[in-house]
Amino acid sequence: METNSLVWFRKGLRIHDNPALDLARRGCKHLYPVFVLDPHYLDADRNAFSPGSARSGFNRIQFLLESLRDLDTSLRRLGSRLLLLRGEPAPVVCRLLKDWKIGKLCFEFDTEPYGLARDKQVKDFASDCGIDVHSPVSHTLFNPSDIIEKNGGKPPLTYQSFVALAGCPVDPCATTYSELPPIGETGDYELLSVPKIEDLGYGDISQEELSPFHGGETEALKRLDQVLEDKAWVTNFEKPKGDPSAFLTPATTVLSPYLKFGCLSSRYFYKRLQGIYASVGKHTKPPVSLVGQLLWRDFFYTVAFGTPNFDRMKGNKICKQIPWSENEELLVAWRDGQTGYPWIDAIMIQLKKWGWIHHLARHCVACFLTRGDMFIHWEKGRDVFERLLIDSDWAINNGNWLWLSCSSFFYQYYRIYSPISFGKKYDPSGNYIRHFLPVLKDFPKEYIYEPWTAPLSVQKKANCIIGKDYPRPVVDHENASKECKKKMGEAFASSSSKKQQNHNDSNEIASLKSKRRKKTE
Ligand code: FAD
Repeated sequence: METNSLVWFRKGLRIHDNPALDLARRGCKHLYPVFVLDPHYLDADRNAFSPGSARSGFNRIQFLLESLRDLDTSLRRLGSRLLLLRGEPAPVVCRLLKDWKIGKLCFEFDTEPYGLARDKQVKDFASDCGIDVHSPVSHTLFNPSDIIEKNGGKPPLTYQSFVALAGCPVDPCATTYSELPPIGETGDYELLSVPKIEDLGYGDISQEELSPFHGGETEALKRLDQVLEDKAWVTNFEKPKGDPSAFLTPATTVLSPYLKFGCLSSRYFYKRLQGIYASVGKHTKPPVSLVGQLLWRDFFYTVAFGTPNFDRMKGNKICKQIPWSENEELLVAWRDGQTGYPWIDAIMIQLKKWGWIHHLARHCVACFLTRGDMFIHWEKGRDVFERLLIDSDWAINNGNWLWLSCSSFFYQYYRIYSPISFGKKYDPSGNYIRHFLPVLKDFPKEYIYEPWTAPLSVQKKANCIIGKDYPRPVVDHENASKECKKKMGEAFASSSSKKQQNHNDSNEIASLKSKRRKKTE
């Protein structure tokens, strides 16, 4: 029997490889493609440290709006359109299901705790109403539940064990459409057009530098084609090699924001890469290859899905308990690119302006904030990234902060990035710093990474007096990093002695139990 179908877009903002869309359109009379703008996500927050909402800086919101506009255009080309509504998503969708007499509801499976709770509400409601619900996995290469099941109910905690379990992903849906079923009656619902960023009340953002990366499936597929054009680059890709200071032509693909919003399917990206590998023969391998990067993504999704309280230290079984310091002043200096270390500050300004920074740049600033120099909680840095990144992704962001702070996955806390020599290795002239910190643009290259060491005459000539026009270092790297190593060493020693104690305790309990059993026998 022909029915009314509703496809609910959240991530997965694409037509290609979209099994939820494909399932929804099959055998239906009317197809309702819906996206609900959540005021909690969009409404301006004047108290936030950068323009935007409480949850997101304006760059990521702009990226989302561009992606929605593109999706609407693609749907219109297929004789449909995006039905945009506003409100708390779960109750809005439940109302639509009733009012539009929906018989089949399809949406992509979401692994984040927020998404799981939201989707449960809708699923329960739909099932009570006898609506057929489909929720296929298509945001990741693999279904995290399958991997966890294969691993005996626990997520694999190393990349190698993950890869050994994962095998090959299923192929992306090959369906292409010439048209989609028409939209049915929508009653008195107010259907919106995609708002402009200027209309969202984020204050005067005309002076802000907008991200050079624009949202949407069309952009994503264009960028993918451009990236894959250079087969030698693709087959020789080897992370962590690559220049974190390259900003005009970044050293990696910058496909992360498109993967985050699902403008690009990771399975499609994977398949295209495999095609190139097959045609060329010799290529780099995981973990360093481009396919290896997609597997890192799925690795973090799987661990995040299977680990309660993954996004915090307390109550998170895989996170080392470290007595991080509280220091609002240092945190704000780091966040605002005011640490006095130009390499760190330039990265933080790029993050603020572009919403994207290179992987090694993320390493440097995350290490500096946590175990390298400031000894501030990784959750604080995570929050800043979560707000400012256009690729901000719950599983990947938390996973990498756990990693960089040596709270999980990686434990070589004595390996600290120098805020001076690391960047200099890639960019001795300091062009990256000059671009993102124009206040330092006239410093001679000898001093650009350590401007506080320049004689006053040099500072005057460069029109930048350290301590007045640009801050002195807020911490002394030599001393601060030694102090951090000491504290990390103590935290690691205490966590292993606690582990030992727990181990001894459980041995003691086991032996008492067995003695008692013997007595009663
Ligand atoms: P490429 O090198 O071209 O890789 C292709 C794709 O593989 C990426 O788009 C991404 O989806 C995936 N990938 C690459 N590296 C990683 C990785 N280490 N972990 C998981 N997936 C990876 N990435 C995010 O997408 N969102 C985040 O919120 C995020 N937060 C991070 C926080 C910290 C502290 C660190 C150190 C890294 C974080 N990363 C995050 C991972 C990584 O830095 C970015 O995915 C990558 O830099 C994005 O650029 P790209 O698309 O050019 O990557």
